[in-house]
Amino acid sequence: MAEVHLSKIVKRYGSLEVVHGIDLEVAHNEFVVLVGPSGCGKSTTLRMIAGLEEISGGELKIGDRVVNSLPPRSRNISMVFQSYALYPHMTVRENLGFGLKIAGMTPEDIKPRVDEAAGILGLESFMDRLPANLSGGQRQRVAMGRAIVRHPDVFLFDEPLSNLDAKLRGQMRVEIKKLHQRVKTTVIYVTHDQVEAMTLADRIVIMRDGYVEQVGTPTEVFENPVNTFVAGFIGSPP
Ligand code: ADP
Ligand code: MG
Repeated sequence: MAEVHLSKIVKRYGSLEVVHGIDLEVAHNEFVVLVGPSGCGKSTTLRMIAGLEEISGGELKIGDRVVNSLPPRSRNISMVFQSYALYPHMTVRENLGFGLKIAGMTPEDIKPRVDEAAGILGLESFMDRLPANLSGGQRQRVAMGRAIVRHPDVFLFDEPLSNLDAKLRGQMRVEIKKLHQRVKTTVIYVTHDQVEAMTLADRIVIMRDGYVEQVGTPTEVFENPVNTFVAGFIGSPP
């Protein structure tokens, strides 16, 4: 059964429809990348899955629950944003544990989760530092750590690497892939970067103007693009 199931999902802002009835099934532990040009509806779709944006039409299921009207907290989803808003006055350890503390967990229960996330992300030697004393890549890892500690069923990433320079972006891409292999979780990842999509995805979803143009493995899409838009976007040979 699909872990995340979008059925005819629509988003309207007033009279303007920006997502036009998207169907998508994401399997348990699958890494799916939504890719497409700026403005095609990637973030809007992700935010509807996260519960940060109201769904105008269609049905969203996570596991076997219809979650259309459930608040974000009840969906057991974690989202990592491009602007990793760490709390500047808190150490890495405090940043990692803060969400769990808010959720009412005891320090005894928080510590092992924070230590586990720190181990996965290689943050052990930075735990007492403030965000100002971290590099961009380290900060991004802390942001991911904050998602990991919650043990979500589904991870959502919205262009998490676009603030980083090219070299670091390459390194973080490898880390995210490793993270997925270690943590074994379902991931929906948004990017406008074709290379990022092709290297990370089990399957990629190519979007244009609020529609899904094609879904497939990177190889399928590259070798058999359904139209010239997909071919051009992915860089398939003519
Ligand atoms: P992407 O993430 O693919 O760049 P978005 O999902 O952010 O695209 O945006 C999709 C479309 O919806 C764009 O045309 C954008 O201008 C529009 N849009 C996004 N947010 C709003 C909003 N709050 N009000 C009106 N239009 C919006
Ligand atoms: Mg976006």
